[in-house]
Amino acid sequence: MNSTFRLTRVLGISIDIHISWLLVAALFSLTLARTYFPGALPGLTLHTYWTAGILTTVVIFASILAHELAHSLAAIREGISIKRIVLFIFGGVAQMEMEPDRPLAELKITAAGPLTSLAIALLLGTVYYLALPPEHIFSQAVFFVARLNLIVAAFNLAPAFPLDGGRLLRSAIWHFGKNLLRATRIAVAIGSLLSFLAMGLGFLLIFFQGTIWGLWYVFLGWMIYQAGQSSYSQLVFRQTFAGIKVSEIMSANPQTVPPDLNLEQLAEQFLQHKFGAFPVFYGSSTHGLVSLHHMKEVPREKWPHTSVVSVMTPLKECIVIEPQADAAEIMMKMAAGGEGRALVMENGRLVGILSRTDMMRFMQMHMILGAE
Ligand SMILES: [Zn+2]
Repeated sequence: MNSTFRLTRVLGISIDIHISWLLVAALFSLTLARTYFPGALPGLTLHTYWTAGILTTVVIFASILAHELAHSLAAIREGISIKRIVLFIFGGVAQMEMEPDRPLAELKITAAGPLTSLAIALLLGTVYYLALPPEHIFSQAVFFVARLNLIVAAFNLAPAFPLDGGRLLRSAIWHFGKNLLRATRIAVAIGSLLSFLAMGLGFLLIFFQGTIWGLWYVFLGWMIYQAGQSSYSQLVFRQTFAGIKVSEIMSANPQTVPPDLNLEQLAEQFLQHKFGAFPVFYGSSTHGLVSLHHMKEVPREKWPHTSVVSVMTPLKECIVIEPQADAAEIMMKMAAGGEGRALVMENGRLVGILSRTDMMRFMQMHMILGAE
C-alpha cells in the first residue's frame, strides 16, 4: 500500500493511514452530523451536530486503533515484532514481521483484538445505560461508539480467513490436526465460501432492491477472498523455502560486466547471455548492479556515449546478502521492497546473484518433483 502517510509512532510501531480511511472518516462524520444525531435528538444547532459528528469519528478511529494495538501487543509478547499498523477503508491491519509458529500463540494474538472491541462496547454500553441521560448528545455519541465496537467485534469474528474469526478457526484446526498447511487450506476454503456468499448477497441487493449498498458486500467479499488466497500462497511459499539457504538457489559465479562498458556493448551482453541483470565488476571489486530497466531510461542514441557505471545501481544501494542467509526471508524482503535481485557476497567477494527467476525455477522444480 503506497498511498499511506504516517500519523505517529506508538511503542515503536508506525501508525499509518491509508488515504481510503479519510473517505471513511468523512462518510462517518457526514452520516453522524446530518442523519444520526439529528434523528436521535432533533432541534440542536448544525454546529453542535458537526462537532459531535467529528469528535465521534475521532473516537471511532481510536477504538479501531485500540483493536489493532491489542493484536500488536499480544504479538510482541509472543516475540513477533510489528512494523506498522495501517488503517484503511475496511478497518485496520497490524503487519506482523512473521506468522506465529504455534496455534496457541495465534489464538492469543488473534483473540486480543475482538476482546478489546467487546470490552470497549461493554464499558461504554454500561456507562450509557447506568450513568448518562439519553437526551444529551454526548450520551448518544457514547452509545453509537459502543454499538460500533460491538459490530466491529462481531464482523471480525466471522470465520472468514484471514479475518480474526477465520484465524481462530485455523488455530483450532491447527492445534488438533497438527498441520498448519492443512489447517490454513480448510480455513481459507471456508473463508472463500463465505466471501462468495457475501458477494452473492451483494448482487442480490443490487438487482432486487436496487440499493447501491450491495456493492459494499461485493467489495468486502472480494477483498476477503483475495486476502485468503494470498495468505495461503505465502504460506506454501514459506514452507517450500523452509531451511533452504540462499546458496542452494542462487545463480553461482554470475556473468559480470566492467563499469566502463558503454550501453551499446551492454545491450549485446544482454542479447548474448539473456540475463535480466549483470553485477558490475572490475579487478577484484563489485561496483553495483545493472539491469535492463536501467537501459530503458536512457534514449537509444545516447547508448554509445553512456557508460554502465553512470546508470547502474551502486553497491551501497543494492540488496547484498550472504550465501548462508535464509532464502525465504530474503525473498520476502525483496518482494516487500519491490526488488527483483540481490547480490550474494561472502567476505566482500561476489559469489552469486539471486533473482525472482531463480526462486520461480526452484518452486517449479519443487512442485514437479513432489514433496508436500
Ligand atoms: Zn482484528
